[in-house]
This record gives sequence, C-alpha cells and structure tokens, in this order.
Amino acid sequence: MSQRVGVVCRWGMTTQHQGAARPDRVRPRHRVVVLGAGYAGLLAAKRLAARVFTDEVEVTLVNASAAFVERPRLHQVATGQPIPAVELGALLAGTGVRLVVGTVTDLDLGARTVLARADGTTRRLGYDTLIYALGSQIDPDQVPGVLEHAHVLNDVAAADRLAKRLKAAGGSRVVVCGGGLTGIEVAAEIAESHPDLRVALVSADRPGGWLSLPAQRYLDRVMGQLGITVRAGTRVASVENDHMILEDGERAAADICVWAGGFSVPDLATRAGLEVTSGGRAVVDGSMRSRSHPEVYAIGDAAAISGSWGSELAMGCRTGGATGPKVADVVAAVLTGRPPAGSMRYRYVHECISLGRRRGLVQFLHADETPRDRILTGRVAMLYKNATLRGALLLFAWPGPYVAPRRHLAAAAR
Ligand SMILES: Cc1cc2nc3c(=O)[nH]c(=O)nc-3n(C[C@H](O)[C@H](O)[C@H](O)COP(=O)(O)OP(=O)(O)OC[C@H]3O[C@@H](n4cnc5c(N)ncnc54)[C@H](O)[C@@H]3O)c2cc1C
Repeated sequence: MSQRVGVVCRWGMTTQHQGAARPDRVRPRHRVVVLGAGYAGLLAAKRLAARVFTDEVEVTLVNASAAFVERPRLHQVATGQPIPAVELGALLAGTGVRLVVGTVTDLDLGARTVLARADGTTRRLGYDTLIYALGSQIDPDQVPGVLEHAHVLNDVAAADRLAKRLKAAGGSRVVVCGGGLTGIEVAAEIAESHPDLRVALVSADRPGGWLSLPAQRYLDRVMGQLGITVRAGTRVASVENDHMILEDGERAAADICVWAGGFSVPDLATRAGLEVTSGGRAVVDGSMRSRSHPEVYAIGDAAAISGSWGSELAMGCRTGGATGPKVADVVAAVLTGRPPAGSMRYRYVHECISLGRRRGLVQFLHADETPRDRILTGRVAMLYKNATLRGALLLFAWPGPYVAPRRHLAAAAR
C-alpha cells in the first residue's frame, strides 16, 4: 500500500519517506505542529509520522536550532569536553516530518497559528492539532544579577563560554548556586576537570537532600574528595561582578558564578491563554490534552502531567522520553478514529547523577519518585548513566518501542 514519495519542505529541502498512501489526493492534510525538538517533541513527531499517512497528515516540527541539544551533557561542554552534534535533519531523514528551524514567538490559540522567527523573517504556521513541547530552561530571573554576571548553562554557546573562562581561571573561586541535580553535576564536573580551581556549592537546602541516606553519604564523600566546599542553608540574594550577596547580607567572593537555581518554562503558553499552573506548565489531562484547548497537547517539562500518586511529574529527560511516544499514540488514535490510547501511567525507576567522569550515583526509586535504599556508585554508576543517555539518543533513530501500523485518517479529523 505505501510507496515512496518526496515531501518538498518549504525551505526547499526534499526528504524521501514511505508514509504516503494516495499520491493523487488533493484534499488538505490535517496539520499537526509540534513545538520543540527536545526529548519529548522529537520522539512525538517521529512516532506520529510513523503511524499516519503523510499525504493525509502533515507533521511539522519547529525548533529554535537545527541540532538536538543534549542538555544533560552541557556541563561536559562547559569543562571542555565536546559532545557530538546531533543534526535534526539527519534524525528526521526519511520520516516525512517537516522541520522548521525558528524561534516560536507567538501562539494564537483562537486562529490556531504559530509565529516562528528565523533569519529576520517571521513565518506563520497554521495547525489543526498542536503538540506543545518547548521544555524548560535554567531560570536566570530568580535573583538580580544572574543574567549579567553568572554563567547559565542553557545552550551549547553558553557552555562554551564557561569552558573558555574556566580554562583561563587558574586558582579562581568558582561558586555554583543550586543544590539540585544540575548544580551537583556542574560542581562535580568542574571540580574534577579543574583541580586547580576552588569550587563551592551554595544551596538553600542540603544538596541531594531528596536522596536516600546511603546516597547522601556517598555524595558527601565524593564532594569532599573533589574538594568542593558545600554551603547548605544559604540563599543568594543577588549576583555581582566578582561576588554575590547572600540573604543575610554577607558578601561572598565568587570570581566565577554558575547559576543552577532551578528550571522555569517558556511563558508562551501563559501569554497565549492556555490553562497553566502557577509555574507556567500547561495543565493537561491523563492523555496530555490541554484542559482549556482540546486541540492542544502538552508534553515533557512544559506540561504539568500528574503521576498516579497525585503530584506533577518532575522535569527531566525521563518525562520527555515517556510522554513523547505516548502523546503520538494518543493523537494517532484520535486522528484515525481508533479507541483511545489510554492515560499516561508513569513509574519512576531511577535517578542517574554524574559526579565528574569517573564516578556517578544511581538512586533507584519507587514508582512515585521516593528513593529506595538501593543505589549504585562509582564507575559502574557512571557507565550506567552514560548508557542511559546513549540509549535515549538511540531511541531517536526509531520512532519508539512498538509502533502500530499506519492507519488512514478518520472522517472526523479531515
Ligand atoms: C546541565 C544539565 C544537566 C541535566 N541533567 C539531567 C539528568 O541527568 N537527567 C535528567 O532527567 N534531566 C537532566 N537535565 C534536564 C533535562 O535536560 C530536561 O529536563 C529535558 O531536556 C527536558 O526535555 P524536553 O523535551 O521537555 O525539553 P527540552 O529538552 O528543553 O527541549 C525543548 C526544545 O524546545 C526548543 N525551544 C524552546 N523554546 C523555543 C521557542 N520559543 N521556539 C522554538 N524552539 C524552542 C528548545 O530549543 C529545545 O530544543 C539536565 C539539564 C541540564 C541543563
């Protein structure tokens, strides 16, 4: 039934794919636009394109950059360890997914259009179904001075800038702010790669305080071995050029400040009038459908998806990796008139933390993300974490674990 056809992308690139059913059809296609090509959006777009006929359903993926950014490895880039670039064009070749590289500046939920800006021009994209997967970023607005004086690892360019600065900073005091997973990983990576630097980790809470006791003990030991000074119970009030002001008024020296004080989500959904939580994540039901706009789905860090235990799934690659394929199945079922794909049922398994390149810490979790006593440490844990990240990239080569056959668009979705 299926045969090879070419899809001419608007910017002139042609990709070959196998998902066309009837090349002579002239009916307008159902337009699915996926915003964001992180773990969530990329997996959603690829899997959906594999479940429908692309002359009936047009799947467009919009992303700010032409490459996939492996955010969990940005601290490696920041310490001068290049990571391979993963071009989205290569990942999408042969899938029929149309890639638009541009920054989404506006979303009009009434008109069902998206504005994307690239190279000084703005493109308007219409949609019938929208999958919102714009992810998150390290929030630079939590205290004054971060944007001007701190390094914030939100993209490869920022990580490169920090790498150059650290290389030339022999003997300097580097202060990493934030005792969550990102801050711990960044501090450990810097301390291991640059033993000549004095690294401190400043945190409002105990770094890794959510881990099991054995994991906390291991973390403390490694931080000590790496020479990281930990200041827990300390809040930063502002960041200045070569120091920071703490909440109690103390002036703390910091030749280089790296900010890792928590993630926030883009404000696009809020500005557009989509129902969002107080933190700006899109409010969705169990099938990741927006509570306020049923033609919109939201996944990954950008969505507030409830676990069966009641609270929102944490931001992380795992959330994107699980919700991307699932939303593709949900949307495919709706478009092809199949029985509903069922609600998202997520169970946590582990939290993988790198502590430099020689050691890691794997905290095994109960389904609701509370820690078990079981942990992996040292080199084995590092290898485990690397395998997990590589596994995620491998998943990009396929549309997902099991993909049901392509089906035709149901009359209701035309
Ligand atoms: C240093 C660091 C270490 C981390 N380590 C881990 C870890 O060990 N484990 C873990 O689970 N998580 C880790 N994370 C978090 C993890 O990377 C994110 O939670 C995950 O990437 C979220 O996936 P996502 O697909 O929802 O969004 P993202 O990966 O954020 O992808 C969103 C995509 O949308 C694009 N985008 C955003 N806004 C726009 C716009 N306006 N227009 C066009 N495109 C846009 C972005 O460019 C991006 O490609 C780490 C993060 C950092 C920074």
